[in-house]
Amino acid sequence: MFDALVIGGGFFGVSIACYLKETRGLRDVCILERESRLLSRASFNNQARIHNGYHYPRSFVTAYRSRVNLPQFVADFPFAVETGFTKLYAIARQGSKVNARQFQRFCKEIGARLEPASGEHLDLFDNRLIEAVFAVEEFAFNAAQLQSWAMQRLADLEIEVRLNQRVVACRPADGGTTAEVVETGRGDSLEPLRARYIFNCTYSGLNQVGGDAQPVSVQLKHEIAEMGIIKVPPALRSIGVTVMDGPYFSVMPFPPSGYHSLSHVRYTPHLFWYDRAGEDPYARLQSYQGISRVDRMLRDASRYIPTLVDSTQKDSLLEVKTVLVKNEGNDGRPILFEKSASMPGYYSILGGKIDNVYDVIEKLSLEDIHAG
Ligand SMILES: Cc1cc2nc3c(=O)[nH]c(=O)nc-3n(C[C@H](O)[C@H](O)[C@H](O)COP(=O)(O)OP(=O)(O)OC[C@H]3O[C@@H](n4cnc5c(N)ncnc54)[C@H](O)[C@@H]3O)c2cc1C
Repeated sequence: MFDALVIGGGFFGVSIACYLKETRGLRDVCILERESRLLSRASFNNQARIHNGYHYPRSFVTAYRSRVNLPQFVADFPFAVETGFTKLYAIARQGSKVNARQFQRFCKEIGARLEPASGEHLDLFDNRLIEAVFAVEEFAFNAAQLQSWAMQRLADLEIEVRLNQRVVACRPADGGTTAEVVETGRGDSLEPLRARYIFNCTYSGLNQVGGDAQPVSVQLKHEIAEMGIIKVPPALRSIGVTVMDGPYFSVMPFPPSGYHSLSHVRYTPHLFWYDRAGEDPYARLQSYQGISRVDRMLRDASRYIPTLVDSTQKDSLLEVKTVLVKNEGNDGRPILFEKSASMPGYYSILGGKIDNVYDVIEKLSLEDIHAG
């Protein structure tokens, strides 16, 4: 009997396991992860932006929470925070849902610093397409450093990690819940595990844990998302750019590779679908045969920043991105935190962005969780 099983060894699963052991005093905590490495899915394959609010002019709450959480993330993970670049937010003249004046007002409301970009930075943009450019305070995280941190921290706290193990069902059991587990790949069933608490932190797989685990109450939407990994020309090496607010793009340093990531609102999502039980998003990604769209992303982005045309594609990251349907309109990224009605002690948790982990911990701190 474990005190707690955490399903999913991404940044959220690892952080929650550490919190349960260190702060809440649970004794036997175990992480079950279907991949052969921790933090190898969405926690690695993302744009690495540590949000500071700027990205969310249509969702005040998400923007405001990012402002609160960023300093905490920087304080807790200084070794994984890349600050050595200038981050620019540019406002498109046509088709943007926000204009420069509205953007400035919004930043003031959430207390986010911004200043007009320098002449040298302005010159990078085609001013026929861009209304204004601001230098802001936004950083990138290094997911490879977070992976190393995770392994070290879990070892220090003596939290057990079982890799290549996929949870296929959870059912109520005497005094807790049972998790049925199979070995990834081979599909062999392993000894079922019993725990007082189970934390489902499987991101895209949240509703795919079978048995008595009910789907969460809000609808989930999955996308197969592609991000280019590109080598930008020297003039852009120490710069990140986001063009707001509509069908534009972001190019940001991607610290694990030393290159930049490139996402484009129009081309990054290859396809999307609404979550259905029994339709494993990871399996869908694995069988996906789509052709890279990084050339199209670059072609369009080069209209706004002409020198981007001299970039070369180094790689491409394909990952399932999961969002809450209710936030499609405002692009907000709240956490999902639900307690099962049918299985006491069973929690489903999804964080829409990395720094949301503090919102999850805040919720957990209100729960009656204790060692057996
Ligand atoms: C393309 C893209 C770009 C993004 N850009 C940003 C960004 O710039 N900034 C930001 O803050 N956030 C960004 N995000 C969101 C961010 O990546 C996620 O919020 C965060 O990684 C979620 O962490 P997690 O631990 O919940 O998920 P994950 O890291 O995916 O961890 C879930 C784990 O559960 C495992 N798992 C699934 N099912 C099972 C099962 N049945 N049994 C055992 N294990 C299982 C998976 O293998 C996985 O390792 C982006 C996401 C994507 C996809």
